[in-house]
Parts: sequence; C-alpha cells; structure tokens
Amino acid sequence: MNKTLRILYRGSLSSCNYGCTYCPFAKHNETAAEHRADDRALKRFVAWVAEESTARPIGILFTPWGEALHHRRYQQAFRDLTQLAHVEKVAIQTNLACRFDWLAACDVQKVALWATFHPTETTRAAFIGQVLAARAQGAAVSVGVVGLREHAEEIEKLRAELPDDLYLWINAYKRVEGYYSAELFNHFTQIDPLFPLNTLRHPSAGYWCDAGENAISIDALGDMRRCHFIREPLANIYRDDWRAALQPRTCTNATCGCHIGYVHLPHLNQSAIYGDQILERIPVIARDDLRVEIPVVSAYVA
Ligand code: SF4
Ligand code: SF4
Repeated sequence: MNKTLRILYRGSLSSCNYGCTYCPFAKHNETAAEHRADDRALKRFVAWVAEESTARPIGILFTPWGEALHHRRYQQAFRDLTQLAHVEKVAIQTNLACRFDWLAACDVQKVALWATFHPTETTRAAFIGQVLAARAQGAAVSVGVVGLREHAEEIEKLRAELPDDLYLWINAYKRVEGYYSAELFNHFTQIDPLFPLNTLRHPSAGYWCDAGENAISIDALGDMRRCHFIREPLANIYRDDWRAALQPRTCTNATCGCHIGYVHLPHLNQSAIYGDQILERIPVIARDDLRVEIPVVSAYVA
C-alpha cells in the first residue's frame, strides 16, 4: 500500500464567528463575492481530489484562516470527500460552533474535528456539549486550547470535565519570552504531557522533513507548497506535473514552531505518538504513557 499523502488545504476564507483577542487572523468580513470565490476554489479542490484516485491514499486537513465549518460549502466538502474511496480522512481545525446534522450525510468514520476551546467566546459547558454531540454522531474529536496564563483555571476544569479518553492539547503562547513560570509550565504538562514539545521552536534548517514529499499544503489557487511556513511554491496542482515535485528535502527555515509543521520532522518521531491520527492530533497511545523524549529548554519558560 502506498503511503498516504497528507494535504493541508487553506482557501481564501478569513472570517470567523468568534473574535478572540489572540487570533492571528480572521479579522475580515467577507463580501458575498469573496464567499463565492472561496466556494469556487473549494469545489475545484474537491473535484481535483476526486480525480486523484489512482496513486496514493489521501488524508486532508482543512486549516482555514478563520472558521469554516458553519459554512454549508465546507459541510458539503466533507460529505463529498468522505464518500471517495481513496480519501482516508477529512479533518478540520474548528471552534465547533456549528450544527452537526450534516454529519449524517458523510462517511463519518472518516471525519475528524480538531476542536479548539476559546474561553472568552463560549462557555465550557456549551463547548463540551458540542464535543459530545459530535462524538455521538461518530466523528473523531481532539480538543485543545491556547495556553494563556489567565485561562489556566478554565483549562484545568475543562480537562476535569472532558471524558478521560479524550486527549486535551495545550498550545503554548509563543509571542512573549519567559511567558510561563516553571510552576505553570509543570501544571500544563500535567494536563497535556506533550505540552513541552509545543513550547519550542524546533531547529529545523538542514533537517529532513516529510513536508513536500508525504505532506503538502494547497491554497485557493492550487499552488502547492511544502507546508504553510515556506512560501515558495513547488508546483500548481491544476497546471503542473505536481507529483514530480514530491521529493525528500531538508528544511530551509531556521525553526519550526507549529504542531502542523513539526509533526513532519522525522527526527521528532511524532508518528510513534499519533500513528495514522496525526492530521487530527489524536495520540494513538494512552495519556499516561505520553511523554516528551527530548530535552526541553524553552525560551518561553522563565
Ligand atoms: S475561533 Fe479561531 S479563527 Fe476564530 S477568532 Fe478565535 S482564534 Fe481566530
Ligand atoms: S520543518 Fe516545518 S517549516 Fe520546515 S519544511 Fe517541515 S513543516 Fe515546513
């Protein structure tokens, strides 16, 4: 069996139904014309995936610059993509503020939701209700939060109230050096044993990376890049022999600090943790057995 090609799709959508202060994007209100353009690009991408049925199995993670799942076009994309035999999985980063009736039309075994809790935008009870509703319909769910100091208590309560078998990840806030006290760092590590790995910007220049060979990012125009963090396109999936561009390469960036990037660095051995659930960020090993095997000296821990 050929290795799965993991595709991160990011269209032109850049709006959100929430307004988190720490949000690096989603400050835009789309016009009707912009919505139509995102719709056209998404449909074109879905049609392209449908045609790519002969070579490798495909896994897709939508990484919108905003919230996509309350838009019917993305629900429709889930329905169409999950029905394709060569598509193994369709995942999305979402705040879960949507209905789930559309899941009934999907092959739900292939649906995975990477769900982020935003404590300033919704209540813990409402968010957990959405998590349980999505799971009850058969979707796989991973849950996470941004590890802001002021949300520590809320994060602890979230962990306590979520089902035990549900992994809760904490993304480190990496905009202020020394942001975490040693005490808070340890506290978050108790909640998410993999948190220390996320507090690092991993040195990556010159290291082999799976991105560009077994994982690619695709934008609204069909430009294909290794990942979201290296701007130079490798090819265009609608124009070029894009498969010829899938090659092993070393990273040209100095560091890689985002989960959706560094999981592709073979020397970090993240496939041992996530197995075939790497796109949706759900470890395949029990929480008690999760640990970070590399030394962690983080600039973000005082
Ligand atoms: S839910 Fe996500 S995309 Fe929306 S404002 Fe918050 S951080 Fe930004
Ligand atoms: S290490 Fe990160 S930045 Fe470098 S190629 Fe891989 S995913 Fe991209």
